[in-house]
Amino acid sequence: MTATILDGAKVAADIRRETAESVAELAARGAIPGLSVIVAGEDPASQVYVRNKEKLAREAGIRAETLRFPATVTEAMLLAEIGRLNAAPEVDAILVQLPLPGGIATSRVLEAIDPAKDVDGFHPLNVGRLVQGKRAPVPCTPAGIMELLKRESVPLRGTRAVVLGRSDIVGKPMATLLTKADATVTVAHSKTRDLPALCAEADLLVAAIGRPAFVTADFIGEGAVVIDVGINRIDTIEEVLRCFPGDEAKAAAFAAKGSLLVGDVHPADVKLRASRYTPVPGGVGPLTIALLLANTVDLCRARRGL
Ligand code: NDP
Repeated sequence: MTATILDGAKVAADIRRETAESVAELAARGAIPGLSVIVAGEDPASQVYVRNKEKLAREAGIRAETLRFPATVTEAMLLAEIGRLNAAPEVDAILVQLPLPGGIATSRVLEAIDPAKDVDGFHPLNVGRLVQGKRAPVPCTPAGIMELLKRESVPLRGTRAVVLGRSDIVGKPMATLLTKADATVTVAHSKTRDLPALCAEADLLVAAIGRPAFVTADFIGEGAVVIDVGINRIDTIEEVLRCFPGDEAKAAAFAAKGSLLVGDVHPADVKLRASRYTPVPGGVGPLTIALLLANTVDLCRARRGL
């Protein structure tokens, strides 16, 4: 089987271009979509993500701001900030970058966001609306994956899909969206028995577990479509040799940088078994940001009745 790449980076660039056109139309009518991102603490990955989000939002013409708080921020301070953003007429979309520093109740913070400005779709009201098939902002990562599958004409109706991982931000909404698209969905997790055999039955396998190259050849049915959500950093030579056997370019990159990124799917095995797959990096990651921008525009239209 010669697997081909599902080019998330390209589809994401298309979505960002379309979003920029929508922003220009709205701006011509006097409504510039506004996105406010809250980040608390020093988590290096979060800092990279929010920088990218702000940069790409601005490139699309969105009025974007990042509000940075130290790791010592209190829950009360974050709730006060969200209250201010909820009331600000120029703010259409609010995103709280996760994880939050220890001691802060993530659910209380997310539930404080006005559901009409909840760009990640994590508010319980929006989660419920999504499950019921009503209009709601869709969490950006699964929304991006659905957009990729649609634009790449991957058939879903009647197919068997396995979603590996059941988090609120990826696995659960992914399963909801695939069910809505008429796939027959199984959600697997850390307590699932016979995981490789179960996954190998899937026509579509979505891996979102946060375990480097965990999904090996025995998890992947011949000709399956494989979506790799995982973003994991590996920093030992043993891990590099396991994930990228015989890949001299990766070995050189590791020697230079001291670490490498790898998804939840084994990058060599997937090429042997899948028909189509998303690479890491350059697959799901760029789609997540593109859908954040598209969701911001949707919320702007809905809030301002445009
Ligand atoms: P969480 O840690 O919230 O959830 C992980 C899920 O995977 C849990 O349901 C857990 O099961 C399951 N799991 C963990 N280990 C195993 C195992 N050995 N076997 C079977 N299931 C397992 O992760 P997220 O959903 O937030 O993220 C998953 C990955 O996706 C991470 O690498 C993250 O960095 C990445 N990510 C990437 C994004 C992107 O834009 N590309 C966006 C968001 C996340 P259980 O419930 O039983 O504990």
